[in-house]
Amino acid sequence: MGGAAPRKDREQGPDPQDVVGLVDDLLNQAIDAGASDIHFEPGAQQLDVKFRLDGALSLFESLPVALSENVVARLKVLGGLMTYRNDIPQEGRIEISGDRSSQATDVRLAVFPTIYGQRAVVRLFYRQQKLLELAQLGFDGPTEAALKAIAAQNQGVLLVTGPAGSGKSTTLACILRHLVRTLPGKSIVTLEDPVEIRIDGVTQVPITPHGQMTFPTALRSLLRQDPQVLMIGEIRDAETARIAIEAGLTGHLLMSTMHSGTPAGALLRLLEMGIEPYQVTSSISAVLNQRLVRRLCVNCRRPGQDGRFEPVGCDACLGTGFKRRALIAEMIRLDSELRQALLAKADLDEMEALLESRGHVTIAEDGRRLVEDGTTTQAELNRACGTTPAQD
Ligand SMILES: [Zn+2]
Repeated sequence: MGGAAPRKDREQGPDPQDVVGLVDDLLNQAIDAGASDIHFEPGAQQLDVKFRLDGALSLFESLPVALSENVVARLKVLGGLMTYRNDIPQEGRIEISGDRSSQATDVRLAVFPTIYGQRAVVRLFYRQQKLLELAQLGFDGPTEAALKAIAAQNQGVLLVTGPAGSGKSTTLACILRHLVRTLPGKSIVTLEDPVEIRIDGVTQVPITPHGQMTFPTALRSLLRQDPQVLMIGEIRDAETARIAIEAGLTGHLLMSTMHSGTPAGALLRLLEMGIEPYQVTSSISAVLNQRLVRRLCVNCRRPGQDGRFEPVGCDACLGTGFKRRALIAEMIRLDSELRQALLAKADLDEMEALLESRGHVTIAEDGRRLVEDGTTTQAELNRACGTTPAQD
């Protein structure tokens, strides 16, 4: 079975009884595989069913086009949607019954009309996995030590950057739990949209972006509650950035995430949001940039022509050749040289040239060790780092 080859084909026609069992089977297989999404994509010749596994979408099965409408109609029944409306987007929730209901805690369905009929996406949320120790996440020794040192500070800002699904929330949760254990008695509060990982000993506050409790309003009130450590789910706007930076300058340790491809890019983005260079240089302690790369399935990987392992695909990895993920990261700590460059309004190229001249290890360079030891492939590393067009 090849990487993206269809898992199997079904020849039978659209028997309604079959469709009920077929949809149940697909949902169960996705939950067993730990897929985060199932895509039902109608085409001219077939209905492609794709699973998102470890962040990457791959074809699981191609169904005959004759089944297309019935499969989506069955999903709509399960999701409590209006089955007679095929012309509008609809969203609902699917109740999973049986043993698997304890694994998938929330299953959401969204359908959307296309020229080949309705496209459906099922999103699966799972019972929270046990939170790992900071030492188990896969940071190298110096980065882990630096994160622990920053967590022990009384003020400053730690930013974690990377695209959605790069493990940023998990890293921050592990740092907070490390803090609860090593410095008990500190008052730690988080503002999250939504609260993803529960942490004992931390006050976690859910944010509603379109309601009264927005990041800026909640953050302003919270600062009057005298917290020592603050975690904000994400800095998305200039107002949140400004209050966060001020908090980091006035006796609070603040941690947050930002969407940015590089650490230097995150610093410059704060300037673009209207934060003064001296505020950035005096508040930011460090920027950690991270990604998750898929690990080669150890059950089926094989040595390739260049002596490195390549993916094959087997039942254990649902034909993808990959199973589970590994973390890669780069980190910059603000020192006087970087502060001077920022105060002198260096642009992104100048900041990156400066880092390179100092021997900074980029995220792609950090990932090379995982290619060399056969954990992953160069192509997967490129995909995770965004240095080649994404395959989905
Ligand atoms: Zn495999």
